[in-house]
Amino acid sequence: MASTVSTSEPNDPELAQTAWDLEPLVDGEGEGGVQSRMEEALTRSQAFAERYAGKLDGLDGAGLGEAMAELAEIYELVGRAGSYAVLRFSTDTAAPENGALLQKVQEGETQIATTLLFFELEWAALSDERAEELLAAEGLDFCRHYLRNARRYREHLLTEPEEKILAEKALTGASAWSRLFEELTSAIEVELPGEQASEPVALDVALSKLMDADREVRRSTAEAVSAALAPGLRTRAFLFNTLLADKATDDRLRRYPSWLAARNLANEASDESVRALIEAVRGRFEVARRWYRLKARLLGLERLADYDRMAAVTADEVSYSFAEGRELVLDCYSSFSPELGALAKRFFDERWIDAPVRPAKRGGAFCASAVPTLHPYVLLNYTSQRRDVLTLAHELGHGVHFALAARQGVFHQGTPLTLAETASVFAETVVFGRLLAEDSSPASRLALLASNLEDTIATVFRQVAMNRFEELVHTERRERGELSVERFGELWAESQSELLGDSVEITDGYRSWWSYVPHFIGSPGYVYAYAYGQLLALSVYQRYEQEGPELVPRYLEMLATGGSKSPEELGQIVGIDLADPGFWDAGLDLVERQLTDAEVAAEASGRL
Ligand SMILES: [Zn+2]
Repeated sequence: MASTVSTSEPNDPELAQTAWDLEPLVDGEGEGGVQSRMEEALTRSQAFAERYAGKLDGLDGAGLGEAMAELAEIYELVGRAGSYAVLRFSTDTAAPENGALLQKVQEGETQIATTLLFFELEWAALSDERAEELLAAEGLDFCRHYLRNARRYREHLLTEPEEKILAEKALTGASAWSRLFEELTSAIEVELPGEQASEPVALDVALSKLMDADREVRRSTAEAVSAALAPGLRTRAFLFNTLLADKATDDRLRRYPSWLAARNLANEASDESVRALIEAVRGRFEVARRWYRLKARLLGLERLADYDRMAAVTADEVSYSFAEGRELVLDCYSSFSPELGALAKRFFDERWIDAPVRPAKRGGAFCASAVPTLHPYVLLNYTSQRRDVLTLAHELGHGVHFALAARQGVFHQGTPLTLAETASVFAETVVFGRLLAEDSSPASRLALLASNLEDTIATVFRQVAMNRFEELVHTERRERGELSVERFGELWAESQSELLGDSVEITDGYRSWWSYVPHFIGSPGYVYAYAYGQLLALSVYQRYEQEGPELVPRYLEMLATGGSKSPEELGQIVGIDLADPGFWDAGLDLVERQLTDAEVAAEASGRL
């Protein structure tokens, strides 16, 4: 099925034609349809506020159901208008009318959100007894879990005037610092070596050179990046210190027991399960080190340095046209479950995918749930490599998950972050197994295994090491006060060398590389969710390996349940106990098996 073509720009008419139809979102009314939906949503949210503000306490169960149904319809209107604007912008970010429409819709969304803010506060302010009484009413299945979840913030919310002050002051406080950080880091320019005559490049462009096959290019690029990070380092450290203190104040006022507790609550993950995840991954850091030692041998080096970690081990020359990729992925979906296969096929037949690379199109890939009354949209930048086939499988996984859970409605279609990758990683793992099985050449198997391992190490191990860094700096700021630039560098090196051990040399320049990571600034505590989601999905896959087709109906049930139940309950549907600390090892075992496969393929390829 696969052909070995060297050209990266194949003449692929099916690929060129695979483009979205966004009109169903606005019933064919185009931009005017976006406008009218936003206007209607605003009018209805104002009417909603007039009707319900200050009166939530007086509702009965049926009244609450009526209010939630009206909210669902307002969200539906905003969802259709917002999806249209965001998705059209993604297909052409350079067109000024697309940017203008997006901006307009976002401003409208903020206005609507502020108008509706009272509802959640009043709902959380009800006594437990009163809330449970209301929730016991019939007809609330479409919003019961959502409403119960909103109340988990009860003890962490302040009074309405206090919340309003915090929300308003945040614009000139934490949000302003975050935006300044973004502006500072996006203005960083790197003077690449050997190209003095040419213009300096953006940080992302320089970082991508770390994949270069030539070690000297990588070494000198890393040196240039470190040099570019030096100016403004004190400013970025001050900025980070300020946000660490701001977070500490916030946690104190809102009575969160630890720096990570608020994030865990948002993720619907218990503090214990997160701790168990972190400890399980830390206990297996040797897996990452074993890979880096093998990688050093493949690159003909004694030992990797930090700037070698992203180097390409081997070029993957196997390519798949879009039609070949589609056939392979659909065949995998159908052999797993004909129902899922038929659903996946609709994405191709009904223009739910935008696949080709086009100028000014957003990079990467994603799946947007849009609204539950329509269908999800998948964006790809398909370049006919095997990596793209896996991405197609991954995004379609999100797609079928959203589509199956659509029956849960707007409040319950999506899952918390920690479960959001279940179907996507699962599908990707199935297709990965097929690609590997179809390939008998050790060199090309090695290429496939290497790229998969590097992704997993980045998602699981590297994110946990970053979480360790966050843990160290948040704790130190709270216990000892402001951190110096040098101290940030020390803690960064400490957390990274805990992961890398003696398998990778950490150079002095690398000590400042914490200072461009946006997650640390804008979304504290976020990074572990990548590891959580990936390992959870791999554990579900391992259950499938053990149970075979028996698991399929329960797996589909779990997907169709969407976010209407807690992560623990969703795990139980497929026989996974999230409270069992040993459960994380199942996913890690699978990664270790792939590593062993890679070692075998490396030996057989004659490259060692
Ligand atoms: Zn994903």
